[in-house]
Amino acid sequence: MKVLDLNCQHGHVFEGWFASEDDFQSQKARALVQCPMCGDAHIEKRLSAPRLNLGAQAPAAGSAPQSSTPAPAAASRRALQAAWLRASRELVAKSEDVGERFAAEARRMHHGETEARAIRGQATVEQAVELLEEGIGVMPLALAETAKKTLQ
Ligand SMILES: [Zn+2]
Repeated sequence: MKVLDLNCQHGHVFEGWFASEDDFQSQKARALVQCPMCGDAHIEKRLSAPRLNLGAQAPAAGSAPQSSTPAPAAASRRALQAAWLRASRELVAKSEDVGERFAAEARRMHHGETEARAIRGQATVEQAVELLEEGIGVMPLALAETAKKTLQ
């Protein structure tokens, strides 16, 4: 099984799954390989890029993109990642970093002592457990930390 990164002459990038390189060439020669986005049969093979195999949605053996559900294109995964990062950055931009005062601020907000708003900051596991026991919703925002790093 070979996974090839392909693109049509309109620049759409998608994945094709083939039994072998020869299988791709022969399907291409018969115009059986088509762009799932525009149906273009002028397909070029891209240089292979490192990929993340998420294990899901493995298509049937020997399937060409047009004969089965196309594998999620690497391009759309990249787009998702970009959207996710954008959302994370927005979250960072729109929330107030209260740092180590996080637990205290979350508690004050919960009791209406301060304006409810999006905050982020550091809390120890003990603090987080205490907050949860008091019915104050907290969640670890690893993504915000990721986004913060990419902002710098
Ligand atoms: Zn296309």
